[in-house]
Amino acid sequence: MTSSVAFLGLGNMGGPMAANLAKAGYRVVGFDPVPAAAEAARAAGLDVAATAADAVATADVVITMLPSGRHVLACYTDVLPHARTGSLFVDCSTIDVAEARAAAVLAAEAGHHTCDAPVSGGVVGAQAATLTFMVGADDDAFTAATPLLNAMGRRVVHCGVSGAGQAAKICNNLILGISMLAVSEAFVLGERLGLSADALFDVASVSSGQCWALTTNCPVPGPVPTSPANRDYQGGFAAGLMLKDLGLARDAAQATGVELALGAHAADLYTAFVEQDGPGRDFSAVITGISAGTLAPRTSEEAS
Ligand code: NAD
Repeated sequence: MTSSVAFLGLGNMGGPMAANLAKAGYRVVGFDPVPAAAEAARAAGLDVAATAADAVATADVVITMLPSGRHVLACYTDVLPHARTGSLFVDCSTIDVAEARAAAVLAAEAGHHTCDAPVSGGVVGAQAATLTFMVGADDDAFTAATPLLNAMGRRVVHCGVSGAGQAAKICNNLILGISMLAVSEAFVLGERLGLSADALFDVASVSSGQCWALTTNCPVPGPVPTSPANRDYQGGFAAGLMLKDLGLARDAAQATGVELALGAHAADLYTAFVEQDGPGRDFSAVITGISAGTLAPRTSEEAS
């Protein structure tokens, strides 16, 4: 039997993900409280309910793609009484591990199955159904969710029990946030040493400096024509979202007693960048702040 899906949160990611589920033959009813998001989903051919409760009432799978853990907990509290007993709740948002586990407990107490299934791959991956899903769930919930996740992505990794998907997402983005800063510092230093961006790219992309921040999301225009640097850092993965994810890593580190020396410094640098540039441009635009020398906190001597 094909699942009926309620898709809550039809924003940049959720809109195209819900559309891909509908394309794959699932009966999808969406909901978003923001009229523009609901309207865009309707225009893309999706059924959109007037309330979240209406959307979940006829569904056997409820997928959420919301901004933060606060939204997920509020949404679960709102819809759980209206969902069919034994539904599968799949949260694809990027949220705190503790909040993910709290949401799973709420749903389990109401008689439902749960997965945390955050994604990597961004808006382009959401549109093209090429996302990677990192799943925290028991075996039965993972098995039940897998066909739906395959309809929205290319890779589905079972990371462990509830919360493990969020743990994987937070650790991955900790690597990403730090590696983008490293790549950006290298390009700025290389330029000051008279090295062309192409020359540094040609060496580092086939040497031990190779990483995704360099070869896919290169922060300087030229070497990787599809990277956001070639379009004034528009689109891509917003600096504000990177900052949010580094905050989640910091909270998780505090809760577990881990010292994240580089992670904490990276969060400070992205905080300064977002204050100066706003949250909207791709996080690789952080190179412009490094180049301008405006991100590092000034010492009291420099400030005076
Ligand atoms: P977005 O702000 O575009 O969309 C979120 C949507 O959720 C909004 O339209 C909002 O109105 C809606 N919403 C809020 N409360 C709701 C509720 N109770 N019921 C239904 N809808 C509700 O954000 P996005 O870019 O789609 O990101 C969503 C999640 O995916 C975030 O947790 C983000 O960190 C994560 N993520 C984003 C990207 C990316 O590149 N944008 C990549 C990976 C992961």
